[in-house]
Amino acid sequence: MNQPMILDGRKVATSIKEELKQTVESLSKQGVTPKLATILVGDNSSSKTYVQMKANACKKIGMESERIYLDEDTTTEELLDVITQLNEDDSVHGILLQHPVPAQIDERKAFDTIKLEKDVDGVTSHGFGSTAFQLNAYPCCTPAAIMKVIDFYDINVEGKHAIVIGRSPILGKPVSMMLLNRNATVTMSHSKTENLPELIKQADLVVAAVGKPNFVKGEWLKEGAVVLDAGYNEGNIGDVEYEACERQASAITPVPGGIGPVTIATLLQNTVEAASESLEKMNKINR
Ligand code: NAP
Repeated sequence: MNQPMILDGRKVATSIKEELKQTVESLSKQGVTPKLATILVGDNSSSKTYVQMKANACKKIGMESERIYLDEDTTTEELLDVITQLNEDDSVHGILLQHPVPAQIDERKAFDTIKLEKDVDGVTSHGFGSTAFQLNAYPCCTPAAIMKVIDFYDINVEGKHAIVIGRSPILGKPVSMMLLNRNATVTMSHSKTENLPELIKQADLVVAAVGKPNFVKGEWLKEGAVVLDAGYNEGNIGDVEYEACERQASAITPVPGGIGPVTIATLLQNTVEAASESLEKMNKINR
């Protein structure tokens, strides 16, 4: 039986967080404790869990966090006011607006109200454009986590055919750009794509970002493909049919324990970097 390499996200996340702990300690000694503010609008129970997990992760490495809960019927204007206050609060280094927000809210407007230097989740249009052009901005966390797993396990993507299934602004699109910037040949696919199984069959690397449990079937894969499953569905189920894909793949991320923990570690890393940048700025002003 084929024994693929299991791409262990917990291991990748631990190595990132170990390093971060030391940086947080050093920043705190200099008077700046990195702080992440998360905003949750409405009552989505999975979102509540994600926000709680992020706060716990902050605490574990010595960071501060602030959780802001807004009612389900919050208006766009009210949300923008909260974001603006956090933009102006010097003790806050990163702002995360938990996705999805209720339908009445203009999510793009809300994302784009976050100051670029506090956009630690890489969701602003400016941040997305900068990442696409390989300019300085905090990358969107889940796509960046996928790239970190690729790097940690030394997987070569240059010249390889990668297919990304899903084109959301926080996942499919940015990860496609990141893979393209690493010289992969990228096929972006979505709900209107025809002949998806045939396209997947040609790919050396498959990124699943669909939001449908067990969507990618084992028989769709080329033998030896690398499978990165960003999906996280109810019951801890990924977007790929794990057992069947494991038989075809040369390397695969599990769910849970794959991309998820690295996403959180990336969020912490971006926030710590934002805090370091703010300290540097303060030091320059005081010089
Ligand atoms: P999303 O906004 O709902 O986007 C889903 C994408 O999948 C859309 O682009 C959609 O195409 C495409 N799609 C739907 N049905 C399809 C089909 N039959 N064939 C091909 N493509 C299809 O979801 P998302 O926010 O990107 O999240 C995707 C998954 O990643 C979810 O399971 C989510 O829980 C997970 N996620 C995990 C993390 C983490 O930390 N691990 C973070 C974020 C998200 P259209 O554009 O045509 O509608």
